[in-house]
Amino acid sequence: MASFSWKNILPRTKPDRLAVFAAVLELTLVPIFEVFVIMPPLFGLFTLSFWMHFLVGFYLWFNAVGNMIMVMGTETSSGKNILPSVLKTGWRYCPVCMLNAPPRAHHCGDCNTCVLVRDHHCVFTGRCVGHNNMRYYLMMVVFLFCSAMYCNYLNIDYAWELVGGMHWKGIITMLYQRSAGCLVIIVHVFLFYRAMWNLSVRFSTVSVPLNFSRTSRS
Ligand SMILES: [Zn+2]
Ligand SMILES: [Zn+2]
Repeated sequence: MASFSWKNILPRTKPDRLAVFAAVLELTLVPIFEVFVIMPPLFGLFTLSFWMHFLVGFYLWFNAVGNMIMVMGTETSSGKNILPSVLKTGWRYCPVCMLNAPPRAHHCGDCNTCVLVRDHHCVFTGRCVGHNNMRYYLMMVVFLFCSAMYCNYLNIDYAWELVGGMHWKGIITMLYQRSAGCLVIIVHVFLFYRAMWNLSVRFSTVSVPLNFSRTSRS
């Protein structure tokens, strides 16, 4: 079973720490900006519509952050006690871990372990995405995507005002400014589809036993 531990949370390498710091900063500053700069002129402070949008935003933010914490704290390694003396079909010997790794487990230098059904190393969580935390990763991407769309929807009036209204100069400035936001959304969609593709490969590969720990023969 995949276990969660708060001790796993902290990122291990310098680039990971930097990326996680940027992600935490974004997840802190964007909600503050939305609640105190964007929402009061739109709905008034502490009105009914203010609280309704606040609740929707909080729901999206809470799920994104919660799933991010689960991605970071969930144990992803293929286990330290797996050492069959005979290499089974599809298994590999990892010289770094000095263990026999099951099929589709790959070693990650940053996590310093073999990760079970490794997808990729996510720098923004400082953790490898694999079999055990894939569900949290997918939900994190979905909620981040929804949050980004929601913020874009709330910010439209503010952005138009900033670029000086609806004329060709404003439209070009808007497109230029929005392209950064769109890129983030496109990257999220790409990551989601890539993970889904990897999942579909996993479920269609019948020769690879998923419950390898309970399978003595493969
Ligand atoms: Zn390894
Ligand atoms: Zn990793």
